[in-house]
Amino acid sequence: MKPRLIVHGGAWDIPDQHVEAHINGVRAAVETVHPLLEQGMSALEAVERAVNILEEDPTFDAGRGAFINARGDIELDAMIMDGRTLDFGCVAALRNLLNPVSVARRIMDARDFRMLVGPGAQEFARAQGFDEVPIEELLTERELKLYEKIKNDESFKPISAFSGQAPSDTVGAVALDRDGNLACATSTGGTPRKHPGRVGDSPIVGSGGYADNESGAASATGYGETIMRVVLCKTACDRIEGQGAMRAAASAIETLETRGKGYGGIILIDPRGGYGFAHNTPRMAFAYADGREVVARIET
Ligand code: ASP
Repeated sequence: MKPRLIVHGGAWDIPDQHVEAHINGVRAAVETVHPLLEQGMSALEAVERAVNILEEDPTFDAGRGAFINARGDIELDAMIMDGRTLDFGCVAALRNLLNPVSVARRIMDARDFRMLVGPGAQEFARAQGFDEVPIEELLTERELKLYEKIKNDESFKPISAFSGQAPSDTVGAVALDRDGNLACATSTGGTPRKHPGRVGDSPIVGSGGYADNESGAASATGYGETIMRVVLCKTACDRIEGQGAMRAAASAIETLETRGKGYGGIILIDPRGGYGFAHNTPRMAFAYADGREVVARIET
């Protein structure tokens, strides 16, 4: 099986001056991780590694660069799923951590649970030896400015982030390894000025990500409250058989728009290695490996 890797760095009206940083960010993740997949790295390992790179890049709303919530804090959500076993790990409202997807990965390996939130997730991460970082490590000038601008603006609605007026840079990765196993991972700071404790689609199995060797694997970005309405990633994976990854992605996004009344984007890989991607936002940043070549795009 030829290994495959596709990553995204959010779907919104990415301004021209931020296009280069987005393209460079998603390209770097694929350029670093795809060769490792070719050397035999598992899909699960690959999606974690790719998302770690995107979490550490301040361009994106995940790890460093995440949005600030209504209390002036940063709460992070992430998930990872193994298409071989259907096993998964999810974490939500995690604070002071640079790589929440790696905490999700450890949760996946835990004995008695698969999803942890808030203080319990924090305690778990600490016990697993994750280093907590001061909030300043995650905060960027860009997000502070946005927070100052919208914190008292009653007219600001999170859905406007996806239709074009504000940023949304959740990250995700989907991989197929040499053994034919699929995996996905998604990581986010959520939506700008979100309510403390608000959890969107990103750490929810089936909504922000889904992976099943028998149907396909996907990662989503967009307005979580609407993505969850249509369980976007599971919906897309279920439509792969018969129509292929590209059309399944397009039809799932159509359902997000017509039934979910929402905005977003999705990346997909089918069990034979076909890529799919679609969005109904003005732009979406993504990159994938095509043989030895890395294609990095902002699609409009
Ligand atoms: N889906 C994320 C959320 O609603 C945000 C995003 O994709 O940018 O939390």
